[in-house]
Amino acid sequence: MLIDAHVHLYPEAANANPAAYADARREPHWRTLAARVRKNGRAVQGFPSLDGLLRAMDAARVDRAILQGWYWQNPETCAEQNRFYAECVRRHPDRLSAFAALNTRAPRRLVADEIRRVRDSGFAGLGELSPHSQGISAGDGDFREALGLAAQLGLAVNFHVTDDTLPAYPGRVSTPLGDFRAIAEAFPGLTVILAHWGGRIWEAAPDKLPPNIHLDTAASPLLYGNGIFSEALRCVGPEKILFGSDHPLDLYPRQPAAEGNPMGRFPAEARDNLPPEARALVFSENALRLLRV
Ligand SMILES: [Zn+2]
Repeated sequence: MLIDAHVHLYPEAANANPAAYADARREPHWRTLAARVRKNGRAVQGFPSLDGLLRAMDAARVDRAILQGWYWQNPETCAEQNRFYAECVRRHPDRLSAFAALNTRAPRRLVADEIRRVRDSGFAGLGELSPHSQGISAGDGDFREALGLAAQLGLAVNFHVTDDTLPAYPGRVSTPLGDFRAIAEAFPGLTVILAHWGGRIWEAAPDKLPPNIHLDTAASPLLYGNGIFSEALRCVGPEKILFGSDHPLDLYPRQPAAEGNPMGRFPAEARDNLPPEARALVFSENALRLLRV
């Protein structure tokens, strides 16, 4: 079984014209990151429709995709994406689960209402969160309140994490790794998933990593060599790692586009870099256990 725990999807209006969608909603950060074209002329990511995503999943034999929200600058854009994801999951509960977008700049009561609403719609968590990208301190009271409610309601959280030791890309925001340790320690009952291998958070004090911290592999081929798999297995263990791609981000910009099977290359590469005894955990069992999807 293969669960991709980190997939993004957008409504038709965004797919049709990402730049116009961003401008109309005053979302310049998303525009920078998602609508960018590389120096070689390739778009950094595709914009598949819901049906296009399902076809890509079929081709790559992905049984279930967990849709991750974006860290929008406006609470209204978060709500719009959450309604869209709720409809996607309602139409395809056998193939899709969702995490909700969140911006805690909205009044506290509305944030709590939104979190309860997505829980009632069957969402598995909140994410991909990036308070740092939204200009919100990780210690902000409203933000901490939202995390406490997520923990109370059994919602996991997925955080966008960057690695300051890697070359920067346009729009990258620094995410101090100590902030995630502090959050995990403040909410020991909260399932915390750090995207993009958690920026190799294990490097500082690996034996003191809070037990509720988990990592996903999103965008790995863009960020790290394949040695990251054995390093992470050694330092955090296979039960802490969830396979995630970051689809529809183009993970292999220097290789010819994978026509017809855009999701297939990374799972195959991950399989080759995981020992047989770790594969079931990383590809599905950890997600099933932690997220009850
Ligand atoms: Zn991310």
